[in-house]
Amino acid sequence: MADADIWQTPLAYLKGVGPRRAEVLQSEFGLYTYADLLEHFPRKYLDYSQVTPLSQAKPDQEGVFRGRLGSFQVRPLSGGKRTVLLTTLYDGTAWMELVWYQGWEWVRQKFSTGQEVLAIGRPVYKKRPPLQLAHPELIPVGNQQPIEKLLRVYPVYPSTEKLRQLQLDNKRFRMLFEELYRLTHFSREDPIPAHIRETHQLLPLNHALKAIHLPTDVEETERARYRFKFQEFFLLQVLLIRRKYFLKTQYTAPAFTQAGPLVKEFYEKYLPFPLTEAQKRVIKEIRRDLALSTPMNRLIQGDVGSGKTIVALFAALIAIGNGYQVALMAPTEVLAEQHARSFRKWLSPLGIGVGLLLGSTPPKQKRRILDQLRSGELPCVVGTHALFQKNVHYARLGLTLIDEQHKFGVKQRASLWEKAHPYRPHNLLLTATPIPRTLALSVYGDVDVSIIDELPPGRQPIKTLVRTEAQRKEVWNLLRAELEKGRQAYIIYPLVEESEKTDLKAVEEGYEVIQQTFPQYSVGMVHGRMSSERKELAMQRFKLGQDQILVSTTVVEVGVDVPNATVLIVEHADRFGLSQLHQLRGRVGRGQYASYAIFMAPNNPSDTAMQRLRALVEYQDGFRISEIDLKLRGPGDFLGTKQSGLPEFKMADIVEDQAILRQARQAAEDLVSQDPTLQTYPALLHYLQAYAQKHSLELFTA
Ligand code: ADP
Ligand code: MG
Repeated sequence: MADADIWQTPLAYLKGVGPRRAEVLQSEFGLYTYADLLEHFPRKYLDYSQVTPLSQAKPDQEGVFRGRLGSFQVRPLSGGKRTVLLTTLYDGTAWMELVWYQGWEWVRQKFSTGQEVLAIGRPVYKKRPPLQLAHPELIPVGNQQPIEKLLRVYPVYPSTEKLRQLQLDNKRFRMLFEELYRLTHFSREDPIPAHIRETHQLLPLNHALKAIHLPTDVEETERARYRFKFQEFFLLQVLLIRRKYFLKTQYTAPAFTQAGPLVKEFYEKYLPFPLTEAQKRVIKEIRRDLALSTPMNRLIQGDVGSGKTIVALFAALIAIGNGYQVALMAPTEVLAEQHARSFRKWLSPLGIGVGLLLGSTPPKQKRRILDQLRSGELPCVVGTHALFQKNVHYARLGLTLIDEQHKFGVKQRASLWEKAHPYRPHNLLLTATPIPRTLALSVYGDVDVSIIDELPPGRQPIKTLVRTEAQRKEVWNLLRAELEKGRQAYIIYPLVEESEKTDLKAVEEGYEVIQQTFPQYSVGMVHGRMSSERKELAMQRFKLGQDQILVSTTVVEVGVDVPNATVLIVEHADRFGLSQLHQLRGRVGRGQYASYAIFMAPNNPSDTAMQRLRALVEYQDGFRISEIDLKLRGPGDFLGTKQSGLPEFKMADIVEDQAILRQARQAAEDLVSQDPTLQTYPALLHYLQAYAQKHSLELFTA
């Protein structure tokens, strides 16, 4: 086998793995090759000098225990012919049972009753105390072997039930890494260029891998962890910065050099309200981008209700005033219709036509719009995914506006951009999911970010209440009072996964309870398992006021505007992320009426649950809330990797390791500006390609 290929060897071939374990490693962790295994990092390290007294051992918590072995017993395993070996560990504070189900002969040979040992593993309760430790790693200690001389760091790998069934425990992982080391010396090409390693004092790859998987020294392992954190940030940053670079250099966009008469006319005659300072600033940033012949790729982050739509309109006015077409894409039909209505209201006095293109648009109408887009007669179109279908052609597409951008995949956005051939259109992305500034660098490394951090004046603040089940009656009374005034209400149920049956049942039961409790009102329901037509229909009924109450899962999260809705009740609010609750809250308070957001907690909520919910009572600012959310939940849950399109970091902590991130980003920027094609860094390029493929990331914007 050629040297380079050894890394592509399927894990099943590694001694100690075999087909069954290989299958589980793949299904549980996506590990398939030798190379994958190398990057399966320990979850943490146990320090041998940190011994847990047995009286403080907890079930399911890995620990290092130190004590004396009791007498050994061999017992038949109930029912079968097989036998188990049992002994105890006692340290003067408590005792623990040690058990081996197989392969225990060596234990009998090597250890004896009364001997002092370190026992390492994850104890569990078998029905009743004492705690039991199965297949512990045993290390003799005592006079002959002082603890300080031992290997002091013990890698603990992520574990699952399936892994445990196949004895894929820490001990086994160490065997596997020893074997892999024997075969390869972990000598892979290092993706981090030597000069960067030198500047940042990073361990070489093979050295670092050894310190990670076969550690002998705490300090060295720390240095290795630093290296991999750096590497994770560095790779992603190189990828993002290259994307940005290629977008700006490979493609040309039409330069909208004049603000255009339309902007002036609209501003002077038709502007429905004075713009906020934040809106003005962002419009200026956009104008500056649009005047260049490099494609704009800008994201507007702004809280719900901060007025992103009119900012997008200004961008549209500039493009149209320069003779180009604009396409505005939204993730749902309801939202697209809403935008079409706003744009028509604003643009019709200027004599600018706005088309609406949805999946459900009747064929005849669709054909007319397609013809007008192709001829250039129609300057502006609003729609859903229908906008980037194959049969859609634009005469002069100069600007795309994408609302709730995270709801679209990179490919979908790109297929819209390709329609401007031979140009690239300018792109403006909008999102109401504020991301803490600390995260924006890694999440949006390839776009420029504008922030609208100010709400239009005169907003009625939303009264936010946290209530428990015991206060249900009060909640229903408040709801009833609002309904009697002619207002409408959302009642939201959590649905963690669209496929979770119990959640679905909760929504359906909730729907029935509401119908029974409020028989004089019409109640609608929306959830993720419904067909999109039925969803749209229910949303329409609610929008038109035909239903007064909408029972729903979080599918209404996205910017739907029903000004008459003044009550939002979120059931099991403790099960949502804060940012999501904040987004949901933005469904109300959109009209002239006082509004209520009521977050329901169980009767005896935990302290942390209450702490989180109270943050919503205290703050109305989405950025502030996202920072708190990030702190309380940690970045993994917060980002919801699917939504951000980011790979999960295995080693780095996007919050804690900001300093490393900044260094890695700087290094990536320097490198890309010096050699954007990476032709002088083939190892990095190869690595990046594999990395992009593995995480389904695009190497280029299109
Ligand atoms: P979002 O940022 O959530 O998309 P919208 O663009 O839908 O917010 O704006 C929310 C509401 O605020 C709309 O009814 C809009 O017309 C109004 N609005 C936007 N900007 C201002 C402003 N500067 N002054 C007053 N009202 C505004
Ligand atoms: Mg919006």
